[in-house]
Amino acid sequence: LGDKGTDYITVPYMGFLYAVPMTWLSTSLFQAIVQQFYKLSLSVPPRGMGQICDWLIEGTPGLALHLSSPAESITRSGAGYTVHSSGQAYEVDAMVLAPEPGVSADLLQDLVSGAVTAKLRGCRYSEYAHVQVCYEKNPWPNSAVSLALPANQNAGWGAAVLQSHRHPHAVPEGGEAVGVYFYTRPLAHMTDEDITLAAVNAVTEAYGPAPEPRFVQVFHYKRGLSIAGPGHYATMNSLHTELPDGIFLAGYYFAHAGVEAAIFSGELAANRLARESVWKVPGVVPGLKIRRG
Ligand SMILES: Cc1cc2nc3c(=O)[nH]c(=O)nc-3n(C[C@H](O)[C@H](O)[C@H](O)COP(=O)(O)OP(=O)(O)OC[C@H]3O[C@@H](n4cnc5c(N)ncnc54)[C@H](O)[C@@H]3O)c2cc1C
Repeated sequence: LGDKGTDYITVPYMGFLYAVPMTWLSTSLFQAIVQQFYKLSLSVPPRGMGQICDWLIEGTPGLALHLSSPAESITRSGAGYTVHSSGQAYEVDAMVLAPEPGVSADLLQDLVSGAVTAKLRGCRYSEYAHVQVCYEKNPWPNSAVSLALPANQNAGWGAAVLQSHRHPHAVPEGGEAVGVYFYTRPLAHMTDEDITLAAVNAVTEAYGPAPEPRFVQVFHYKRGLSIAGPGHYATMNSLHTELPDGIFLAGYYFAHAGVEAAIFSGELAANRLARESVWKVPGVVPGLKIRRG
C-alpha cells in the first residue's frame, strides 16, 4: 500500500482492531480485513451486547440452558459422550465446544492426541487494556466525530470512541463516556495508574478540553484477545479433521476478534455437527441447515 496507505489505513485500523504490530499477525488475516474496511461500522444492539445472547436463545426452540455450570470433564460413553458438570452427567451424541482454546484442550485431553491439545494450547493471546473515561455532563455535546484513531505509531492508545454515538443507551442522558483502547506493546511498561492518566490525556487530545471525569474505569487483561499469528489459520483449520467423531470446536480464535466472528464460528460448527450427524438419525434429510435467527 506504500507509506501513506500504511500510515492512514493499516496502522490505525489494524491497531484499533488488534492492538499489536502487523508482524505479529497472519498475512491472510490482513488481506481479508483490508478487503472489508469499507464495511467497517461499530454497532451495538439497542439493549447492549447481552441482547445478542437473548436473540440466540429466542432463536433456539427446545433449548435446555444451564448457566454457571462449567463442563468439568468429557468422557466416552458408547458411541457418544458424557459431559460432567456441577454434579450432573449429561449423555450426548455430539457436541460443540466453544470455551477458550486452553479450556477445550483440558476437556479433550483424554479423547484427542497430544498434537491437538498442543495446537489449542499454542493459541497466542495479547495483553489488552480498555478504559472508560466517564463525564456526568457531556463536554462535547455537538461533536461531529464518533471515533478517533491516531494515524501514527507513537501513540500508546489505538482508538477513542464516544459511547453516546456508538450506543446512546450506554450513557445517562446528558452524560458521556469515552472508550479508550490501548496498543499491546506499551502496556508491558505501564501500571494501571499510567493507563488511567494516558487515557484521560488521549480523550482531551482527541476531542478537546474537558473537566475532570466523574470516574475512570480500567479493564486490563493479561490475556485479552486471541491473536492470529502467521500460520495460525492453517493450524486451526487442521484441527477439524483431527477431532473424534461428534466433537466440534468453535470460538473466535478460529476467525478473528469480534462477536460476529464468534457467532459465525459457532454457526459453522453447528452446521458441521448437523451435516455429519444427520445420517445417524432415521428419516432426517441430509443437508439440514441451521437457520439464522
Ligand atoms: C476489552 C475487550 C473489548 C472488546 N471489544 C469488542 C467489541 O467492541 N466488539 C466486538 O465485536 N468484540 C470485542 N471484543 C472481542 C470479543 O469479546 C470476543 O471476540 C468474543 O467475546 C469471543 O467470543 P467467544 O464465544 O469465541 O469466546 P468467549 O467470549 O471467551 O466465550 C467463551 C465462554 O466459554 C465459557 N467457558 C469457559 N470454560 C468453560 C467450561 N469449562 N464450561 C463451559 N463454558 C466455559 C466462558 O465463561 C465464556 O463465556 C473485545 C474483547 C476484549 C477483551
